[in-house]
Amino acid sequence: MKVKVIPVLEDNYMYLVIEERTREAVAVDVAVPKRLLEIVGREGVSLTTVLTTHHHWDHARGNAELARLLPGLVVLGADERICALTRRLAHGEELRFGAIHVRCLLTPGHTLGHMSYFLWEEECPDPPAVFSGDALSVAGCGSRLEGTAQQMYQSLVETLGTLPPETKVFCGHEHTLGNLEFAQKVEPYNDHVKAKLSWAKQRDEDDVPTVPATLGEELLYNPFLRVAEESVRKFTGKVAPADVLDVLCRERASFERAAEPLQPQARALLALQWGLLSTPRQK
Ligand SMILES: [Zn+2]
Repeated sequence: MKVKVIPVLEDNYMYLVIEERTREAVAVDVAVPKRLLEIVGREGVSLTTVLTTHHHWDHARGNAELARLLPGLVVLGADERICALTRRLAHGEELRFGAIHVRCLLTPGHTLGHMSYFLWEEECPDPPAVFSGDALSVAGCGSRLEGTAQQMYQSLVETLGTLPPETKVFCGHEHTLGNLEFAQKVEPYNDHVKAKLSWAKQRDEDDVPTVPATLGEELLYNPFLRVAEESVRKFTGKVAPADVLDVLCRERASFERAAEPLQPQARALLALQWGLLSTPRQK
């Protein structure tokens, strides 16, 4: 099993999974079909299926165009809102592409119909992989837009967090640096956070992806998987895992806003657009 990591849009990842014996390929989260088809052509593989993690435009907007270009393309996902969906998947369902097995894991929280895909190959020593979309990112997770904190806890800790530790995590966005800066705020004395942060800074400077991480690593520095740790509980002032997660989500959202202050010029322009700087009308 070969995985091509394809950075698209501002910071999204699209993936192409190749069954090396049959040369069949499966795409995950098609945002830019043209980019994908270039790689499909270069690899000389036959793309039959799209696995969509959730309905947001930056993960699914290319489905319709790709289906038009490749008649017979199967587009799978767990949410009716996914564009060009041909069949809705159920939690726990298993799919098969040659020697590659896929287990569909419903992971609500970011959206209610968010599906993660756990892949492994028969008789192959390579570690398994999980395509986690915006449910689990490297060192963080997508914002909780639709699910409850309890659902998100189940998705992150019980469903994804219990996969084999050697599982490679391929997520939907390159948000690693910001995630680790937040992780450091949550656990300032966690050496795994420190080490991963300096590694991620180097990757950022070299402009190379930080995916994949392994799940085993994630358990050491990702605060959203560490809600039972004393240090994370202490940061949130909560004890129940869903409550800890709820506070983490809110803190992460305000951290994001604080971390990216607008330049004075941009702020003035924005104010102008909103009519805040217009001179008071003369009488
Ligand atoms: Zn999303």
